Amino acid sequence: MTEYWVSQGKKWCDLCKIFISNNPSSIKNHELGTRHKEAVTKRLSNMREEKVAKDKEKKETARVLTQIEESQETPTDPRFMFWIARTRTWYGNVLDR
Ligand SMILES: [Zn+2]
Repeated sequence: MTEYWVSQGKKWCDLCKIFISNNPSSIKNHELGTRHKEAVTKRLSNMREEKVAKDKEKKETARVLTQIEESQETPTDPRFMFWIARTRTWYGNVLDR
């Protein structure tokens, strides 16, 4: 029962890393506040940067794969061919673009 009352009293904002009072007007106030808005903006831009970095990494892998496959010296080792096929599956969406 104790936990119930604690959670009723406080609400954790993961973006701002602070507790706020768990009632509609406090939450609304907090979400309209400068600190929270800045935290939201920061979080969104971090997410965008991560996505860009991941896309870049995928494209680089795709490029290397294509290079290997188009190369005249493509190894015929079955294990290596399996690795290529598996990696192609992982990066499928990027390669299809
Ligand atoms: Zn917040």
